[in-house]
Amino acid sequence: MKAHTHETQSTITPEKALEILTEGNQRFVNNLKANRDLLGQVNATREGQWPFAVILSCIDSRTSAELIFDQGLGDVFSVRIAGNFVNQDILGSMEFGCNVAGSKLVVVLGHTKCGALKGGLDAAQIQGMGMDNLNHLINHFDPIINDIIEEGEERSSKNGDLLERLNQQNVKSAIEDIRTQSSTLKKLEDEGKIKIVGANYDVETGVVTWL
Ligand SMILES: [Zn+2]
Repeated sequence: MKAHTHETQSTITPEKALEILTEGNQRFVNNLKANRDLLGQVNATREGQWPFAVILSCIDSRTSAELIFDQGLGDVFSVRIAGNFVNQDILGSMEFGCNVAGSKLVVVLGHTKCGALKGGLDAAQIQGMGMDNLNHLINHFDPIINDIIEEGEERSSKNGDLLERLNQQNVKSAIEDIRTQSSTLKKLEDEGKIKIVGANYDVETGVVTWL
């Protein structure tokens, strides 16, 4: 499999980009990794890169976008932050990926058993540990948790049902934030030049499900 060129990138539609990632994940779960000469791809991309997708995923060591979608060098922009949410800098990275570098798809990829989301649910305990920056990060999930938690429901990472509802809602919320906080990406989406989609990665099976 060869690295993308300006020519191959320009012929990829948002739908095709989604298809390429779907097929890549199918290869991954079937252990049929595409044959890639990565060093050859270093050489092929030395003058530039033409990635077809921007993938926002968690820092979780099991959710490396290039691995789980079986992609090589120069194929995808990989944005990672614990809990796969957006802020201004991440939106800036996405705007670069799509509006400057020509990517056709933005994926927000959540995953099962997310430690960052567990931290959000257990915020009361984490806050006692004195990590100001981590507290700042997990505070991001508070409004989402408050939205989805039912009256009398246990707020804890041990509540697996709540954790998975939070995972799904967190992805939806990130997509909403992309549309409302980036007029650039919203415009590209409205014009049909990009697609913005959510997905979930199951850490037990390796399967990506589109939301
Ligand atoms: Zn995670």
